[in-house]
Amino acid sequence: MMVPSNHQPYRTAASEAMKEPISSISTPSGQRILIRAGAIMDGCAHAHIPGCLLVRCSKRPGGIELIVEAVAAHIEPGSDMHIVDMPGDLLMPALVNAHCHLDLTSVGPQPRPSQFHDWLATVRRLRPQEPAQIRASVQQGIELSLAGGVVAVGDIAGSTRSGPSLVPWRTLRDSPLEGVSFLEFFSIGKGSQQRLDGLERVLEEAGCDRSMLGLQPHAPYSVNLAGYARAIELARRYKLPLATHLAESIEERSFIVRGTGPQRVLLQTLGLWDYQELTHIGLGKHPIVHLSGALAQARWLIAHANDCPDEALDPLAETGARVVYCPRAHDYFGFERTLGAHRYRDMLEWGICVCLGTDSIVNLPPESARAPGGRISVFDEARVLYRRDRTDPTLLVRMMTTNGAEALGLERSRYTFAPGCAIAGVVAVRTESDNPIRSAFEGDSPPRLVLGPSVRDASSASSALNSLGRGDPEADSGSTYSAF
Ligand SMILES: [Zn+2]
Repeated sequence: MMVPSNHQPYRTAASEAMKEPISSISTPSGQRILIRAGAIMDGCAHAHIPGCLLVRCSKRPGGIELIVEAVAAHIEPGSDMHIVDMPGDLLMPALVNAHCHLDLTSVGPQPRPSQFHDWLATVRRLRPQEPAQIRASVQQGIELSLAGGVVAVGDIAGSTRSGPSLVPWRTLRDSPLEGVSFLEFFSIGKGSQQRLDGLERVLEEAGCDRSMLGLQPHAPYSVNLAGYARAIELARRYKLPLATHLAESIEERSFIVRGTGPQRVLLQTLGLWDYQELTHIGLGKHPIVHLSGALAQARWLIAHANDCPDEALDPLAETGARVVYCPRAHDYFGFERTLGAHRYRDMLEWGICVCLGTDSIVNLPPESARAPGGRISVFDEARVLYRRDRTDPTLLVRMMTTNGAEALGLERSRYTFAPGCAIAGVVAVRTESDNPIRSAFEGDSPPRLVLGPSVRDASSASSALNSLGRGDPEADSGSTYSAF
């Protein structure tokens, strides 16, 4: 199995201190901040009720670095410490959203579709096409991510009518977020070779510094096996991480197993269908088995794997694929009815790294785009699993911090409270009972980024929310960002 060894594509703590000022409190270099909270937990071994977190702020070129000095049930206050009392809050490391489509933020939440392929057609019709529109949409998504405590993303840079676009990648690189922008492409049926050649030209256009850039063949029903092979070759040449949508819907299964169904009809309608494709699809193979050869040649980030019978667990585990589960998208499309419950717990037992994603805002509830409180956050995904499955909160925090970091090639330690480590940020969630962890997961309080990168100013977030057409112009979005 080929695993990309060069980590240059990712922004890391070593290479990049925070580009933006610390939010919520002033943090001069060298200051030590002692936060005394109702509870503290990360996805590793640190959990205290109540708990204290001691963080040192150090100046680095381009920003401020946060170093954890201690985490404990009690820390004796020192005269040089800035003390912040948050007895009603649960503290966690900053969050990682391993699968989102920030360029679709301007589309906003949409009603649930009757059919998955109808939804795909809606997205094709509504997605922004012009560079300025795409940039504004991604920017809105970045601000809604920060408003949800998310500081790292696995974002999909969607393809426009004229082909793959680098605008989402450039916008993400200019933002305070870490992560990867996966350049998405389609390549199946008629014209697929020209599309691959166009993709290569776009990758050349990206220039020499391709940090934070990744590559995403869209899905097995929109990219044939030759397209996946080319993606692997290009990823090796340009040192790019790889992601794909896989085993998402029953329609995908029909197309890959039998070569029939709505996905084939869609290709025929678009004039793209080519009978040559039946040499590799319609052979009775499950989508994950169909793609197992490609999975074995790189370390893939797989979005969804909603359709995962026993025969599909093996190739996922053996190839070291990481899986992003998007619980609210799964519910929105009614996949439980057609495909059964998602097998994230079985995957974890099989040693597969499973993390959380939101998918696009299109499938999120309407309040996701409303001010105040609008956000794109994996914490809301974790809440679904806690309420429905009673999943262990430590595991949930791991899925939205260190597992997400691992899936995106980021340093796991930046998403823990391990003493001595530089961290990406601190998130707080208001709690209301004497069981703060349960209260945080059962309640609706927003996860607030109390230490970490901030939006340039609160009003820009407010205007972004309002420009979606659903915001309250009088709302004070500043409260979303002020914890202290
Ligand atoms: Zn997606």
